[in-house]
Amino acid sequence: MTATQPLTFTQILTELVAFPVLGGEGNHSIANWIKDYLDGYGVAYQTVPDETGTKEAIHCRIGPAVDGGIILSGHMDVVPTVGQPWDTDPFKLTLKGDTLYGRGSCDMKGFLACCLASVPLLLRSRLKKPVYFAFSFDEEIGCMAGDLLAGAIRDHYDEQPAGAIIGEPSMLRPMVGQKGIMVYTTTVRGSQGHSSRIKQEVDAIHEAARLIVWLEDKMDALIAAGHTDDRFHPNHTSIHVGTIKGGSAFNIIANECSFDWDFRNIPMDEAQDIIDAFQSHCEERVALRREVFPGFAIEHVAMHPPVPPLDTPEDAPIVDLVKQISGVQDTGTVSYAAEAGQFSNAGFPSVICGPGDIAQAHRANEFCTVEQLEGCMAMIEKLVEELVARP
Ligand SMILES: [Zn+2]
Repeated sequence: MTATQPLTFTQILTELVAFPVLGGEGNHSIANWIKDYLDGYGVAYQTVPDETGTKEAIHCRIGPAVDGGIILSGHMDVVPTVGQPWDTDPFKLTLKGDTLYGRGSCDMKGFLACCLASVPLLLRSRLKKPVYFAFSFDEEIGCMAGDLLAGAIRDHYDEQPAGAIIGEPSMLRPMVGQKGIMVYTTTVRGSQGHSSRIKQEVDAIHEAARLIVWLEDKMDALIAAGHTDDRFHPNHTSIHVGTIKGGSAFNIIANECSFDWDFRNIPMDEAQDIIDAFQSHCEERVALRREVFPGFAIEHVAMHPPVPPLDTPEDAPIVDLVKQISGVQDTGTVSYAAEAGQFSNAGFPSVICGPGDIAQAHRANEFCTVEQLEGCMAMIEKLVEELVARP
């Protein structure tokens, strides 16, 4: 690879899709390819390792070290393909007509490919404000590196970037809001015995069922209290139990039951408030049931720290900028989790805007059209024009 023969976004995407790096897995393979690519252009970058040393995020600046630059942010990991009926090899980018198929083509290596394909343009343009790349890992298992990477960028550069564009699939429409997300496994530990002794023992399934109903009631109570935000679909915080397991036979009182649940909070609902309310309810149940079985317990394991929602005001300069460069004036919100809230909380007002349709993400035959990727290239070109023209 040399700087004299620039790769097209399709060629770069082909390379990126070929790395089957899932969320949670070591990512040096794809990160090394990106670093080699940047090396080929003499672009200096920083890496941000995780605690285990098996993963790294990458960030770099192209342009002058002055305030007012724009961060282009994306994640390098993808979701699994196991059990999905793919018509093509998911890790081999396949062009059919105007459509590129492959895991990550849409979510969100397509955006990364457009960023990287724009490096020659960024280098030869007389940028008055810089562009930053921020490429993370483990986004798909709970935005694990978003805070780490955004914080590293804030701490590393002396200048202050003006904002971030998170290139998650939005059909290149500016998205100013995002729900937060929190995922828990809750385990109830009761006592065991003959089913006839239900009043002398504490059945973990019965107690888990109460907690699950409490969670649904909590969701309904928030809605009833007017906690709705019509920018989102659905317009309320959702609380949902996705799995439950416990018990061994109809005639044995279950001593253990665990369930996985999540909530996706609209910006007006604080994640911690929901967590606190649930935990205090659990403490009440524990106090009550320990009168019957002193070993009764309810335990919670969070899959990740809360991913904050995004709520960028319509009049924020970053929103104007993204409207201008995308050519789309009509903003929206997304109901999926992304790193936008984390970048925003780190001091970089953020807008989600990237190629492809989220409806294609995480499923078999994930795709992105060439037209969307060309649109993303055009958006970055307009960003460059803007940053060249800025005083
Ligand atoms: Zn994504």
